[in-house]
Parts: sequence; C-alpha cells; structure tokens
Amino acid sequence: MDEVYYSSTRDSSKKYKASEAVLQGLAPDGGLFVPDHLPALDKSLEELSKLDYKGVAYEVMKLLLTDYTEDELKNCIEHAYDSKFDTPEIAPLHQVGNAYYLELFHGKTIAFKDMALSILPHLMTTAAKKNGIKEEIVILTATSGDTGKAALAGFADVPGTRIVVFYPKGGVSPIQEKQMVTQKGDNVKVIGIKGNFDEAQTGVKMMFNDKALESELLGKGFRFSSANSINIGRLVPQIVYYVYAYTRLLAKGDIADGEEINIVVPTGNFGNILAAYYAKNMGLPVKKLICASNDNKVLYDFFTTGKYDKNREFHLTISPSMDILISSNLERLIYRIAGNDAEKNAAFMKSLRETGEYEVTPEMREGLKDFYGNFATEAETEAEIGRLYKEADYIIDTHTAVASAVYGKFVTDTKDADTKTVIASTASPYKFTRSVMRALDKDDASLTDLQLTDKLHEVSGVAIPPAIEEIKSAPVLHDNVIEKDEMESAVKGFLGI
Ligand SMILES: *Cc1c(COP(=O)(O)O)cnc(C)c1O
Repeated sequence: MDEVYYSSTRDSSKKYKASEAVLQGLAPDGGLFVPDHLPALDKSLEELSKLDYKGVAYEVMKLLLTDYTEDELKNCIEHAYDSKFDTPEIAPLHQVGNAYYLELFHGKTIAFKDMALSILPHLMTTAAKKNGIKEEIVILTATSGDTGKAALAGFADVPGTRIVVFYPKGGVSPIQEKQMVTQKGDNVKVIGIKGNFDEAQTGVKMMFNDKALESELLGKGFRFSSANSINIGRLVPQIVYYVYAYTRLLAKGDIADGEEINIVVPTGNFGNILAAYYAKNMGLPVKKLICASNDNKVLYDFFTTGKYDKNREFHLTISPSMDILISSNLERLIYRIAGNDAEKNAAFMKSLRETGEYEVTPEMREGLKDFYGNFATEAETEAEIGRLYKEADYIIDTHTAVASAVYGKFVTDTKDADTKTVIASTASPYKFTRSVMRALDKDDASLTDLQLTDKLHEVSGVAIPPAIEEIKSAPVLHDNVIEKDEMESAVKGFLGI
C-alpha cells in the first residue's frame, strides 16, 4: 500500500494522515495541506471506463485518502452520490462538436460545489470516528451565495454534525436566499446578518480563532470545523469527475486509449482546475489545462507574466462565483512549481499578504507550461450564451459561458481545434436565470427571478430542476436576521449552551 501523507504548504516538517487533514481543514500555520506525492492511477483507463461514477470515485479517492479503509470510503461514496443527484450518471457530458460540456450541476443546489460538498460531511464524520473524536462537529460558514446552500444540503441530517450558515441579508440573489431559508434538517441553522459578506466572514473567523470559545464548546461536547474549499476533503472528490469524463469518452469510442484531451475550467478560487491538474499528474492524458477567468483576470495575468498582483479594481460580473482576487488554492500550485519547497512558498505568500503581489522565478514558470490562461469580458460571455443557443440549441450558465468563450480564444490562438476538449460546466442556467435570459434577449423585468425559470423552460425545453421546483412552494424555515455582533450568541443559542 502506497501511503500518502499530507503536510502544510508553508512547513513540511509535520506529517498528517488524510483523515487528520480532512478534520483540520487548514494547517495550523495558515498553509494548505498538500499530498507528499500524487500516486499514479493503478487501474487502466480501459478498466475504469467500465465502472460507474461511484466505482471511479472509489478508485481515485482510495489513492489519496489512504488511511480510510475500503469500507469507510465506499460507505462515504454510497451516501454522497445517490438519488440526491437527478441523473444516475451524476456528471453527464453534453457534446457540441469537439467540445464536451461536463455537467457538474445535477446535485441538490444545481452548481458544481455539490460534487464535493455531498461527500465532505461523510469524510469528516468518518475521520472524527477514526481519530477518536467524540464531540459533535459544528460547521460554521459565511456565504456570498453558492457555498452556503451546498454546505447546508450536504450536512443536513448527517448524524454527528450541525451547521450554521450566515449570509448578508440583501446581499445574495433572491433564488439563493430562498434556497437557503427553506433548508430542512434538524441540525441546520441559517441566519441573515445586517452587514455585508466580508463582515459575516470576519465574524466567523473571529469565532474560529477564539480560544476561550473553543474550550467552552469542547466542554459542552462541540467542536468547530469548516467546509471551505481549501479542505482536501473537497479537493480530492473533484479529481474524480475528470477521470470519469475521460473514461466516458473512451467508452463511447470518441477517443482512443491514451489520447490526450484538453480541459477548460471557469476559475475563481482555483480549486476545480487544481483538481484537473492533480488528475493529469496522476496519469490522466491531458494536453492543456485551460484556465478561464472573467473580468477579474488576475490569473490570466499571472499565467502570461509570472506575476500575481491582486492590487486592482474589483469587478462585479454576471459570473459572481468567479469574482475573486485571491485564488486560495493557487498556493498549492505555487508550492509544487517551487519544487515542493515550503519555505519558498511561504515567502511568496508573505509577500502576497504584505504587498498584494509576488513574482515567480523563470524556472518556476516552466512548471506552468501545462496551463493556458485567458479571460472573457461580460459582452463575450453573453455572446457565447447566445451563440451556443443559436448554433447548438444548448443553454449554458454564465460561468460555463466564460469557459466556453475562453475555449474559443484558445482555438484561435493555438489552432488546436481537433483535440477533444472537456469544458467544466459549473452551474445550471436555472441558477442564473436573469443573466442567462438577458444574454438571450429574452429577459422580462416584470417577472421575478423565480418566475423567469418558467420562461427559461419554454425557451430551452430543459426540465426545471427539482432544486428550483422545490423552493417555489417550500415554506420559509429560517427567518432570523441579527446584528453582526450577535453572531456568537446566535451560535450558542442554536447549540443550546
Ligand atoms: C465556485 C464556482 C466556480 C469557481 O470554482 P473554483 O474552484 O473556486 O475555481 C465556478 N463556477 C461556479 C458556478 C462556482 O460555484
């Protein structure tokens, strides 16, 4: 058995088992947990092409979560990728020419975060058991919209856990708010904050860092944890669907065994594309990893100049989940191209904290050759939604449209139109109905966002996802709105302490 251990990107002296890294989330020094090596796939792609999603998930995840037993891992997978998804394929592909849209939005909240957040709670409770932790796990999350609902749906009614989600009242879309406040489950709590997202986030961070609160909670049988995207319990499950997509193309005979594909990912925090990069390093035949940004094109600039610079204007776009200037997961790539050198990486991250920028060395830039970066403007993104609808009768959401438009630029730039290309489709168009309908010139200002879904249905012919149907009639179960300095007492009230 090829054991994989984890260490911090900022200090490699201490080693952790996978389950310990899942429980902790972030390393104590503020760094991110990284595997000490990326094991090669130990089944052939041909063999994997005969397995279903759960089968592929097990074969990939067992290589990286090596201290979970076969039973434990299979049990987590069984609980995650079940009828919560609206198709047994879990992540189906939609072909348009040489492009294959990998639909990662068939879960509970119709966005790709479900792929990992449906399994994270099970990986966490299993890890707690393995490590002799008796306390109930309390997940605290501040959300600007998408992550909150995906985390709620993932943790709802999972024994041994509770979850509290804070969102800025008035600062999320009407559909996002409705999705959250209708969340069922005895262990869930959703609370609006009179403040913005940053204030909600700061409040959560303060609770995480409060030692007195921590020991008070431990005394009462509770332990805080976080479900954010830097947890390896989210990263590892994301590797699965790239292997799955490749093996579906192989099974269909659209590619030959070993033939290289391109992968395009609409990127924000760099988690999803990092998973594709890990897949390549585990032996998946990938030619280029195409990193697509919106107007917040800090990653495009990084790939073209070697300089990361967050000191710039922040743009609110129609692909809000990619409106990010500090892509946290990029730290894992920096660590790797620095030759797995924690000290070097720590210096770059210090520079980022203190000056908002850093520049990698020419040797490190060599390590970025697997990537191609580009961006799509708002107009290009809207035009891409219109083009695909007209030419292929396929409606994509705004985030996927950024990726699709960038793929077009890649083909123009590199003349590589022949390589079969998987485009990560990260949200259902039903999640961003207003922007999608506007791009199609079919917006109707007299309709609410939720009413617009019926119109999108008429235009697309695609069934309205259960996630949307449910919230239309679901009762509001959470209507607490509090001041931002009341967050701690709200948590205590919910825990009954
Ligand atoms: C979170 C999200 C992204 C960005 O993914 P990262 O892993 O943060 O790069 C893209 N699209 C949608 C719809 C998302 O919710």
